[in-house]
Amino acid sequence: MASHTLIAPVLLVPAPTKPSLAGLSRADLVQTLAQLGLGEKPARMRAEQIFRWAYHYGQSDFSGMTNIAKVLRGELAGAFSLARPEILARQVSNDGTRKWLIRLGSGAEVETVFIPDVARSGALCVSSQVGCTLTCKFCHTGTQKLVRNLSAAEIVAQVLIARDDLEEWPTPERPLNDGDRRLTNLVFMGMGEPLFNLDEVTKAIEIISDGDGLAISRRRITVSTAGVAPLIPELGARTGAMLAISLHATNDALRDVLVPLNKKYPLAALFDSIRAYPGLGNSKRVTFEYVMLKGVNDSLAEAKALVALLAKIPAKINLIPFNPWPGAPYECSDWEGIERFAAHLNKAGYSSPIRTPRGRDILAACGQLRSESVKQRASARPDLSQDRG
Ligand code: SAH
Repeated sequence: MASHTLIAPVLLVPAPTKPSLAGLSRADLVQTLAQLGLGEKPARMRAEQIFRWAYHYGQSDFSGMTNIAKVLRGELAGAFSLARPEILARQVSNDGTRKWLIRLGSGAEVETVFIPDVARSGALCVSSQVGCTLTCKFCHTGTQKLVRNLSAAEIVAQVLIARDDLEEWPTPERPLNDGDRRLTNLVFMGMGEPLFNLDEVTKAIEIISDGDGLAISRRRITVSTAGVAPLIPELGARTGAMLAISLHATNDALRDVLVPLNKKYPLAALFDSIRAYPGLGNSKRVTFEYVMLKGVNDSLAEAKALVALLAKIPAKINLIPFNPWPGAPYECSDWEGIERFAAHLNKAGYSSPIRTPRGRDILAACGQLRSESVKQRASARPDLSQDRG
């Protein structure tokens, strides 16, 4: 329609936006508040208050921060916001899985997925990078061109967006029981390789696990890596998070093909570093993810090799039926094959649940995430559900 093409130029100039405090650490809040001319001590006190409002109550408006003087609330609102990054698309799968496509400025987009009814109640799968440099053969994210690290604030913002959408922020009048929460666990299994962004991932975990804020315990936070061996013990020492390894193959020849990072850190080096992960024991097991690819890595011989490889490591195994994506070079193993594989692992004493694919209809399952920032402009994406669903 003609009226659509006649947009006044002034509308194309973005409104000046105030910097958002959403996602900042305590220390960064103190520094930022100093810009208002607050001395160190008052800045510290205000930072404590804002931290609790922002991350325990999910406040996105300074006017609701009732224990902060009105004048200061006004000044805060004049200089800053608590805005979240823009949500470009929100999709809900017929199994209840939700996926958000989030715009992080400068054309960078990531996806975040909430999966209900897993772990204690529900898990949020967050991204640590826009895209991924690893190019694992079976993973959709690896086919995306644009790659950059997310900041800690951008990682925390994904949790804020999910909590907003799930409407489960407590209020001072209506505290939320731990048992009522749906978002209880966090997994770094979205887009990107978290160990290539360890500083920001560590900082984000500090904010997310802080008892005065979101309070998701480090024991309920899992970081998954394709195997950046030298950084694995460091991850444990710095974050106390649970470790997951995307294994997918039991010998170097095949793993070199499926997970090219293996050429740099082959299985022997990878397993040395896994054994050095601090605090491993029966209550802190390593999760090994193993994608089931038909005729590629799903034989009984490989199940046996897997058991041998995991000897003496407190471990559980997640068998992930391969999730297809457009143009993928693999197929998912037959169901009987997967069950045969799982049965062997069980017999050897390993818990090895077959992960029910979740959110496949909206391309939200493992390895299906891929923001289209380089392929498609936002203006050309009026109906995302048809593109993807
Ligand atoms: N880079 C990190 C974080 C991503 S986690 C890592 O590799 O661990 C995402 C998980 O989904 C990984 O275990 C990945 O190997 C797996 N995955 C990727 N593509 C998949 C697909 N098409 N089907 C099933 N699982 C897949």
